[in-house]
Amino acid sequence: MAFEGLADRLQGTIKKITGKGKVSEQDVKEMAREVRLALLEADVNFKVVKDLINRIKERAVGQEVMESLTPGQQVIKVVREELTTLMGGEQSKIAVADRAPTVIMMVGLQGAGKTTTTGKLANHLRKKHNRSPLLVAADIYRPAAINQLETLGEQLDMPVFSMGNDVNPVDIAKKAIEQAKAEHNDYVIIDTAGRLHIDNELMDELQQIKSSVKPDETFLVVDSMTGQDAINVADSFNEQLDVSGVVLTKLDGDTRGGAALSIKAVTDKPIKFAGVGEKTDDFEAFHPERMASRILGMGDVLSLIEKAETNVDEKQAKELETKMRNASFTFDDFLEQMGQVKNMGPLDDLMAMIPGAGKMKGLKNAQLDEKQLVHVEAIIQSMTKKERQEPSIMNASRKKRIAKGSGTSVSQVNRLLKQFEEMKKMMKQMTGTQKGKKGKGMNL
Ligand code: GDP
Repeated sequence: MAFEGLADRLQGTIKKITGKGKVSEQDVKEMAREVRLALLEADVNFKVVKDLINRIKERAVGQEVMESLTPGQQVIKVVREELTTLMGGEQSKIAVADRAPTVIMMVGLQGAGKTTTTGKLANHLRKKHNRSPLLVAADIYRPAAINQLETLGEQLDMPVFSMGNDVNPVDIAKKAIEQAKAEHNDYVIIDTAGRLHIDNELMDELQQIKSSVKPDETFLVVDSMTGQDAINVADSFNEQLDVSGVVLTKLDGDTRGGAALSIKAVTDKPIKFAGVGEKTDDFEAFHPERMASRILGMGDVLSLIEKAETNVDEKQAKELETKMRNASFTFDDFLEQMGQVKNMGPLDDLMAMIPGAGKMKGLKNAQLDEKQLVHVEAIIQSMTKKERQEPSIMNASRKKRIAKGSGTSVSQVNRLLKQFEEMKKMMKQMTGTQKGKKGKGMNL
């Protein structure tokens, strides 16, 4: 999970100071030292850390904290605000050109995730903004790049413009824009060539494309897992191409978070999106404030809700709600719900978005272990249709058979049955109190 190490380290420090009714300069100093170490360990650029710590210290011994009734909490608020500012403050939006199509040029090193991100961004624009993008294969050097984009286009059922690899990328880009106008595509996303390292030839080509098509956005795609290198790459690209925003990929595998925290400060360009997995849906708008909350273990409920909204089938959710009201929720429904939760991504990532859940290690290990979910699934799959619908018929011999069939033990089967009953009871209470309220259904 992104920021795991940083979040773990900072949460201890935060706990220490939050409850304090009085905060001395010494307390602030100690906290600042801990935050500094945690950030350096997370591979945040040292100059960025130094400036940040100075701002935090200055504000934390200032009036807003010392005169507050809850100085401990106020200090944390300062840290959160400064982290938010560090990552760009407000979430920055994607441009919309006055006249269609809006042109987005994707640039970055080979392997950073440019082609994958081109597909993800197109998918995002269609799903969230109802747009119809045209993908453009302008990487004529990497042999598989055109195919890769065409395959992505097929998967997404989206048009891909290509002219093979014998045509100049500038001409490809221009022709693509003409086609987009004719076909009424309102966004054109150009996937350009990358190299393993920055070289002049590449930069020349990218500059030529940029000056001839004048894109509304130039997005630099960088791999967050490369830490400080990502910052250097971003700095060089920006210097030569004046990018308009950054897309940070592979945040799912970046436990440290240094790139995410330093890029805006070093390049002065906002992170607009983050890639959080290999699938086309694993893509999020980057919200500095939510990210800061996640790092400080305060959760990120808004992102969790958005994730649920994109991944949970609305019709199924409605049906489920009705079933819960009538208390006719069965093990089959339970299985379906589990599938939907799995679609939302790794449980650890979801947990990080729940306020306070980061601290509840016990909960994480005991109940939300993915391996346990596999057991739960196996147990339900070993039940007969009738048993799933009417768990009350379960007796000793049925339980034995199920345990054997699923490779688990009778006590595991018992535990699941008990949890299921408790869940049903809870649902009844919840739907009872929420009657009349229109919700999007419930996710496990
Ligand atoms: P390009 O050379 O810049 O076009 O890079 P690709 O789009 O071919 O991506 C390189 C590799 O990174 C592929 O295996 C992608 O699946 C993977 N990748 C891209 N974005 C992400 C991400 O956000 N998370 C993870 N885990 N993998 C990613």
